[in-house]
Amino acid sequence: MRPMQLERLLHAQGFGSRKDCRALIRAGYVSIAGEVCDDPNADFDPGRRDGSPGLEFTVDDQPWRFRAQAYVVLHKPAGYECSQKPTFHPSVFTLLPPQLLTRGVQCVGRLDQDTTGLLLLSDDGQFIHQWSSGKKRTPKVYEVTLKHAVEQDFADQLVAGVELHDEPAPIAAAACELVGPITLRLTICEGKYHQVKRMVGAAGNRVEALHRSRVGGLELPAELAPGQWRWLEAEDLARLA
Ligand code: URA
Repeated sequence: MRPMQLERLLHAQGFGSRKDCRALIRAGYVSIAGEVCDDPNADFDPGRRDGSPGLEFTVDDQPWRFRAQAYVVLHKPAGYECSQKPTFHPSVFTLLPPQLLTRGVQCVGRLDQDTTGLLLLSDDGQFIHQWSSGKKRTPKVYEVTLKHAVEQDFADQLVAGVELHDEPAPIAAAACELVGPITLRLTICEGKYHQVKRMVGAAGNRVEALHRSRVGGLELPAELAPGQWRWLEAEDLARLA
């Protein structure tokens, strides 16, 4: 990428207005390669364009790396809404640092407030559209806890397809594994509203708990506790596809 003034670079990473960023830099809060840089007009090469990390810097001793676009994975806890203006519960956006919010990250598809697990967020409109529209038919894996015990025929019924009220044709799971008497591992390729709950309901049962463990080839990173997030690196993005 072309060299960028430090003030613009910080602004692009969500550290506030150009004026805020200039003040941060002038006050000596910003270091590059261990050296304080207090010149807002100093030029730096921010690094790669493709979402992979670029220039490393610290702001108030916090390490950051330049990223032209933000792609992150959050372990969504129960009791959070995937909305900027939540109705009854706190928003998942309260779990992210202000820099990501300033950059305008949005959820890539939504999970219900009581659903836990893998949630992608980004500020790349094309990426959001590509991965949230049903067109791509990305497999999404859910660990489902049911109210009533079931046997294999229940899983078979979901794979064969069930009628949902507002759908013209039956909707079928791409795969469904009986993990225990009340637990299923269900794979769906659409992203319809309340899809898992409605499919399970249509088959005569009820979802007691729902956890998304995988999207495409990307597993929820094991090191993320509920409420924690991390950047998606180039290899994670490649795994998604
Ligand atoms: N299906 C649902 O019913 N809820 C979710 O949160 C995700 C998929």
